[in-house]
Amino acid sequence: DGRRVGAAWRAPREVLRAVFGHEDFRPLQGEVVDHVAQGQDALVLMPTGGGKSVCYQVPALARPGTGVVVSPLIALMDDQVQQLRQAGVHAAALTSARTPEEVREIRRDLDSGALDLLYVSPERLLLGGLLDQLERCQVSLFAIDEAHCVSQWGHDFRPDYRQLSALGERFPNTPRIAVTATADESTRQDIKHQLGLDGARAFVASFDRPNIRYRVQVKGQARKQLTDFICRDHPGESGIVYCMSRRKVEDTADMLRKQGVDAVAYHAGLEAETRANAHTRFLREDGVVVVATIAFGMGIDKPDVRFVCHLDLPKSLEAYYQETGRAGRDGLPAEVFMVYGMTDVANLRRMVDDSNAPEEIKLVERRKLESLLGFCETTRCRRQVLLAYFGETTDPCGNCDTCLEPVEAVDGTHAARLALSAVYRVGQSFGAGHVVDVLLGKTSEKVQRRGHDRLQVFGQGMDQSEKRWHSVLRQLVAQGLLKVDMANHGVLRLGPREQVVPVLRAEETVTLRADPEKLRPSRGTQKA
Ligand code: ADP
Ligand code: ZN
Repeated sequence: DGRRVGAAWRAPREVLRAVFGHEDFRPLQGEVVDHVAQGQDALVLMPTGGGKSVCYQVPALARPGTGVVVSPLIALMDDQVQQLRQAGVHAAALTSARTPEEVREIRRDLDSGALDLLYVSPERLLLGGLLDQLERCQVSLFAIDEAHCVSQWGHDFRPDYRQLSALGERFPNTPRIAVTATADESTRQDIKHQLGLDGARAFVASFDRPNIRYRVQVKGQARKQLTDFICRDHPGESGIVYCMSRRKVEDTADMLRKQGVDAVAYHAGLEAETRANAHTRFLREDGVVVVATIAFGMGIDKPDVRFVCHLDLPKSLEAYYQETGRAGRDGLPAEVFMVYGMTDVANLRRMVDDSNAPEEIKLVERRKLESLLGFCETTRCRRQVLLAYFGETTDPCGNCDTCLEPVEAVDGTHAARLALSAVYRVGQSFGAGHVVDVLLGKTSEKVQRRGHDRLQVFGQGMDQSEKRWHSVLRQLVAQGLLKVDMANHGVLRLGPREQVVPVLRAEETVTLRADPEKLRPSRGTQKA
């Protein structure tokens, strides 16, 4: 039937050694490779640097036929193709950067069965009858890199990715492997669903970075908090300080220089030469602190960054994880530090509200913001909260501020019970705004229409402010007593029965972080 009979099946371990020069698989890699090499579908979550490419490159080469890798990043594709060619693999990248002549040549090689690996951007895959051509060839597997791009809930949605669901229908006997470095639980489910990979096995590597110490403070005198952190705890060390605006980047760099810190500013508005100089100094010299907007960091591969500071809140917990993840790549102790204030929170909320994004996207962004605030306000181990966001459970770490220093906390059992019963009484089908209205006894149109002004909890929380109730709800989410259903308009639901019932029956107490508005602002600068 015109199909090429490809090269024979090769042992994955042999491919790993012969082609990539690695002695052995990393723990999860071996399992993924065996699974996919045997023709099964997989979803793989690994942090950046975890070794995702091996997960699809090795089974692609082990199985007969051409492996097709879908990726949204042209530079990355060209990079990998170059490395593979040097290792003697016949690889090519079909992207908008190819000339018509190059495209013809690649498609000829595909037909003759000469290609081991074909990298392709999602839009090219769906163009010019390429799928028809692939149906006539032998395809060893489809790999979908940066798979979070298929989900509107990820941070990098690409509409073209949606059409990749067709692969499963047109190539039912070809294994598919989706890989990504960022996906919270709901994004993960969405990826599986959108790509038609519901039956695929999920392989999830740990996202923990045990050598990073997490520290978060309520913003008081932010400059003093920052200089204390750098000059007292990290003098002479390399680090990154993130600020939201260019203006603030420059002011903060000036301020740090006056304190004797070797600080340089970095943002997109500076001359290319100035930026390049800052970059080079940071990489080559010891003890340089770069004060930057988030434009700085992409592709920064400096192993000995000892600290990362956030003077403004990042966009989401995923962004926070990525940005703080630039610290301590060498595995030695590193510390990350963030200050947050209520005005930052209000600003971020307004940015979401004022954006032109469709309402459903805004809703997801609001939820992400809530998770971030839950992390800031938690009384629990920060690592537990951060990893829980990625679906991982761990013991208290002993290496974050809440583990190391007692948190100013209050008994929140009564508030928690009110909030949980309000969520329950409104049928677990409303978001935080409505639940707070009920607690505060607000007769909004929605409250009246649903008859929620007749509930027993209606108006029972009038002794607390609206802001405080939102904070309580976030903390209950962070503690797992409440869940936010992202797939369903951010509706609040009760957490697991065995956790919630004892609280409702007052058999378990709940600890909440004290209301930050009632804290002394200087508290943040004192060492416990
Ligand atoms: P990711 O795509 O997950 O960010 P990469 O696939 O680029 O990670 O791999 C990160 C680094 O780890 C690369 O330098 C790669 O050569 C190395 N690596 C991957 N797998 C192994 C292995 N089994 N043994 C040794 N090094 C590996
Ligand atoms: Zn901890």
